[in-house]
Amino acid sequence: MACSTMKLGAFDVFWLPGGTFRLDGGTMFGPVPKVLWSKKYSVAADNTIEMCNDPLFIVAPDRKILIDTGLGVKLTQKQNAIFQVGPQWSIPAALSELGYSCADVTDVVLTHCDFDHAGGLEMVDAAGENIPVFGNAQYWVQKDEWEDVQNPDIRAEATYLPENFVFTKGCEGLKLVAGRMEICPGVTVVHTGGHTRGHQMVEISSDGEVAVHLGDLFPTTAHVNPLWVMAYDNFPLEVIQKKRELFAQYSRQKAWFTLYHDPLVGACRLDDQCRIIEKKLR
Ligand SMILES: [Zn+2]
Repeated sequence: MACSTMKLGAFDVFWLPGGTFRLDGGTMFGPVPKVLWSKKYSVAADNTIEMCNDPLFIVAPDRKILIDTGLGVKLTQKQNAIFQVGPQWSIPAALSELGYSCADVTDVVLTHCDFDHAGGLEMVDAAGENIPVFGNAQYWVQKDEWEDVQNPDIRAEATYLPENFVFTKGCEGLKLVAGRMEICPGVTVVHTGGHTRGHQMVEISSDGEVAVHLGDLFPTTAHVNPLWVMAYDNFPLEVIQKKRELFAQYSRQKAWFTLYHDPLVGACRLDDQCRIIEKKLR
């Protein structure tokens, strides 16, 4: 499989195949009427839309950083059927095609801990034990997010699946961030809230070039209108406010906005009116 790729200063950025699934289009566009969103996103007869779950892999001079981990391979047959899981998660194979292995990954940033972002963190070995997929990595999560993983509310229980965090809980590499932290030169995680209480974004900059990964604040290019939020957003007013702020700030810097769930577009640039002016196709 060929991975999409982008050069950002001294960094190479790749999109890795984290599996595809289908969700109800209504849930992905929350308050937006179907007559509007269906013009922007292709929808099947059962009202589902296709989305990928593709982590970014950043090759920096002395770090190999993964942003989120895809669906993984622990979903049950029933879950695979419900979500119509398509081309399977194949991150180890994709890394090896690029000349790396899972053991080379130095850092895993979790924008948040929903199953479609954290599912690839762990797998189950032959003895039935959960083992880390990226065994040498440090894991960067916001402190608030991690608290909610330990004590999910009734809605989060369906998506902070305990089987994704068996090993990671209490492991030495787990690094909890409160707010903002530069995890290596040019890569900074920043708390945003909005989608979940402890959701974070990642700013990537090298040699004057900037990209920003807004995670589920900006899941697909169809969500470029700040008012187009998801029914899955826990704090939609915060999402709207953050999108307005961050779109303005980063469009001034001519940054690339990288995308996790958009099957067609890997990254885009915006003007100061939140219009897409340039796209990098998958
Ligand atoms: Zn998501």
